[in-house]
Amino acid sequence: MKAGDRIKVVTKEETVEGILVPSPELEKDVLIIKLDSGYNIGIEKKKVKEMKLVSAAKERRDVFAHVKKDKKLPTIAILHTGGTIASKADYRTGGVIAKFTPKEILEMFPEIREIANIDSRLIRNMWSEDMRFPHYNLMAKEVEREVKKGVDGVIITHGTDTMHYTSAALSFILEDLPVPVILVGAQRSSDRGSSDAGENLIDAAYFIANSDFAEVAICMHENIEDKDCLILPGTKTRKMHTSRRDAFRPINATAIARVNHAEKKICFIRKKYAKKSKGKVNLKLIDEKLKVGSIKTHPNMYAEEFSEYEKFDGLVIEGYALGQAPVNKDDDLTNENERILEKIKLFCRKMPVVMASQAIYGRLQMNVYSTARDLREIGVLGHLSDMTPETTFIKLAWLLSNYKKEEVKDLITKNLRGEISERTEKETFLV
Ligand code: GLU
Repeated sequence: MKAGDRIKVVTKEETVEGILVPSPELEKDVLIIKLDSGYNIGIEKKKVKEMKLVSAAKERRDVFAHVKKDKKLPTIAILHTGGTIASKADYRTGGVIAKFTPKEILEMFPEIREIANIDSRLIRNMWSEDMRFPHYNLMAKEVEREVKKGVDGVIITHGTDTMHYTSAALSFILEDLPVPVILVGAQRSSDRGSSDAGENLIDAAYFIANSDFAEVAICMHENIEDKDCLILPGTKTRKMHTSRRDAFRPINATAIARVNHAEKKICFIRKKYAKKSKGKVNLKLIDEKLKVGSIKTHPNMYAEEFSEYEKFDGLVIEGYALGQAPVNKDDDLTNENERILEKIKLFCRKMPVVMASQAIYGRLQMNVYSTARDLREIGVLGHLSDMTPETTFIKLAWLLSNYKKEEVKDLITKNLRGEISERTEKETFLV
């Protein structure tokens, strides 16, 4: 019997039916069977009393080859970059490895063909934690290419760890975007029965095909059931859980829309958004040589921690709450804080230094306490911003790439892509 065959295995304790999965080198004495539930189990070969072939492995059906375009349907480009959505379980380590090809991913979710004509291609196959500024530019150029071809929208499949950085980067880079660009990931690899990949992908495609929305957004599960997906704002979203399928939440904002998976219903939560048009996208890329740092304040901080960033072009300080950092000499144990203040002062003379809050929710208010007032006085920017630290970092890099230093200082706290909300609404906390 070979991998892919459907088999029935009888041991003393149980009878198990499922698909035979290739056994890894180090576990040749174990049979791995994928159950219909999507979970895999291992059975020691020596315990097997009987093994029957139920049906032989099917030849892979290439459902996407030679498919004619349906002129009545919109066209969506799916650009794959890797991540869990493109990965399979590695039965040797129990971990996941990036492996699926774009075609294989789509073969797993053939219903997407009923929503749109799909042009799918691989632009990278990587983990999102490894991404750098050039990857944002690469994705933006690929989107531009698709827009020129006249697609109705673009889906980017992406690892989830840094998906909110990418969505922020693309929101800034892609100016006057005429079609939606939706980032989609998965918290469970696509070969698992419990994977969220299919629903996220299909709901993103359905949303593109059936709405007039044209911004950069993220489409992921709203809750742990496979019920609804949220369309989340590109500059105001964050991964808030390490593993739940509903890990992506809007921060200081509401979601843009909800897509009900079973009923195929779109419900807009936000009224104002950019609409589809026939125009061109204008790329404002990120300077790939730019060095922007990010430093988190913490108790017992040392001034020397800043030294790594002396030759950088910009720095984000993830400070406390309303915009505080450890810069006061309160007693004889806090002398180091004076040195930190001096260091920050020096940095502010050399580069834009922008505050963001570790509190995540809420707005910086750097006039309330003297600590933040002192920081403002020496030139730390960010007063009244409610951007996430991640969006602050990306925006600073993007501004430094496209504007003069003085403009950067002004624009960092001006709303350009929905990254700073006008008002702090109470219903945008923990949603
Ligand atoms: N760490 C990987 C990434 O972000 C896998 C996580 C995921 O895709 O959910 O690409």
